[in-house]
Amino acid sequence: MTVLDDPSRVPRRAVLGAIVGAVGATMVGGSGAAGRAAPDRFATPEEKGSAPRRATAAQSEIAVIGAGAFGTWIAWHLQRQGHEVLLMDAWGPAHARASSGGESRMTRTTYGADELYTSMAWDSLEDWRWLSQRSGLPVFHQTGVLFFFGKPEPYYVGSIEVHKRLRLPLEVLDRSALSRRFPQINFDGIEHGLFEHDLGVLMARRGVQTLVQEFVRAGGEYRQLAALPPKKTDSDRLAALGTATGEMVHAERYIFAGGPWLPKLFPDILGSRIFPTRQEVFFFAPEPGDTRFGPAQLPGWADFNNGDLFYGMPDLETRGAKVAHDQHGPPIDPDTGDRTPTAAALQEVREYMAMRFPALAKRPLTESRVCQYENSSNGDLLIDQHPTMKNVWLVGGGSGHGFKHAPAVGKYTADLVMGRQHQPEPRFSLATKAEQQKRDVH
Ligand SMILES: Cc1cc2nc3c(=O)[nH]c(=O)nc-3n(C[C@H](O)[C@H](O)[C@H](O)COP(=O)(O)OP(=O)(O)OC[C@H]3O[C@@H](n4cnc5c(N)ncnc54)[C@H](O)[C@@H]3O)c2cc1C
Repeated sequence: MTVLDDPSRVPRRAVLGAIVGAVGATMVGGSGAAGRAAPDRFATPEEKGSAPRRATAAQSEIAVIGAGAFGTWIAWHLQRQGHEVLLMDAWGPAHARASSGGESRMTRTTYGADELYTSMAWDSLEDWRWLSQRSGLPVFHQTGVLFFFGKPEPYYVGSIEVHKRLRLPLEVLDRSALSRRFPQINFDGIEHGLFEHDLGVLMARRGVQTLVQEFVRAGGEYRQLAALPPKKTDSDRLAALGTATGEMVHAERYIFAGGPWLPKLFPDILGSRIFPTRQEVFFFAPEPGDTRFGPAQLPGWADFNNGDLFYGMPDLETRGAKVAHDQHGPPIDPDTGDRTPTAAALQEVREYMAMRFPALAKRPLTESRVCQYENSSNGDLLIDQHPTMKNVWLVGGGSGHGFKHAPAVGKYTADLVMGRQHQPEPRFSLATKAEQQKRDVH
């Protein structure tokens, strides 16, 4: 069964079909995600009546290497299914250089004609909402997400068709509705908008760290340990994993969710198949007293810009309004890459803001970050068994869009590793990962 065939993936809300909304706005698909009941799968093993078993480095059923968004959700799903899991990270969950570090990530179901990621983003939302409720401060801000386009691009048309087909809510806005609803954006040259009311922004570092807390509270074992690249042997199984401090990790199964470090952990297989690129993001302070860029008025947004995307987020938790260019930057080594933002990238973002967000264009920079995407050749995720070590799995290739999908990645990987995913999704396979970059997924 592929992700798409899984009946549990069917949208959870009643079917409303097309609803005509306010002037210039049309609803397609379903009506929204509010008011879901918490299913039993959120219960801890203890709450389900089984005594928690604690994994150790010396002996565990499953070792998950990498406590970014992917590794942590994988560990959590396995634990909720009753498995004994050791989660480890060289520096700590969502640390400053991890791809899951930093402040915020957009979650959206708008993916053009791509049903797979539309579905995964939607399916993940319930888990993010659950996590947000568990956290003292929000992990999910339901700001809504707005995409806008100069012309009816295939991405725009495809997004509408997929949302109708999957019966997911999506509001189609014309130019007059866009200008009326979002007067802080200059829509010159823009004719079409797509608004996702139920989606929004995830707090990245907080989300991952809260989930690790949940995992540990429910009996999971988290350790700060740096795995050494697994040694090649003649065996078809990895017997033990070495670490930088000399401690050995023994597990029946190993899942490597090392993000941009995967090419260093598996240089022969992934050295030329995962491409870490340097990405810069900037935050700006609005005028004193100006609430137009706060989350009550500005959603997460993406300007399709003829395929050369800029995106941003509101002034969440008063850190500043975020703006970034979605273009792949130069290659970066996650250990040694220079994290100093460049004047050229800042200038590019300011020029963009002068066009679309004139009230922010000259405002002070409050913060900037240099992160990295860990791209697969075309942007599809990698979730597959190691080609020779049968008890090793490789998970990564988030490619600048993976964070939102992490709960679905966790569920899918848990099922794959435990032999419950009988028809793996071909797009996640190692075999489909080429050595030349040609981005298809946006
Ligand atoms: C600037 C930027 C903006 C983005 N925007 C979005 C967005 O808006 N929406 C979205 O959905 N996605 C977005 N993404 C993508 C998303 O954040 C990533 O795809 C996702 O966080 C990847 O998670 P990961 O767990 O695979 O990797 P990571 O978070 O990097 O986690 C891997 C972990 O493995 C650990 N590790 C590595 N090697 C070892 C070892 N040898 N031993 C032990 N531990 C090890 C690392 O320390 C690290 O913590 C963005 C990414 C960036 C950089």
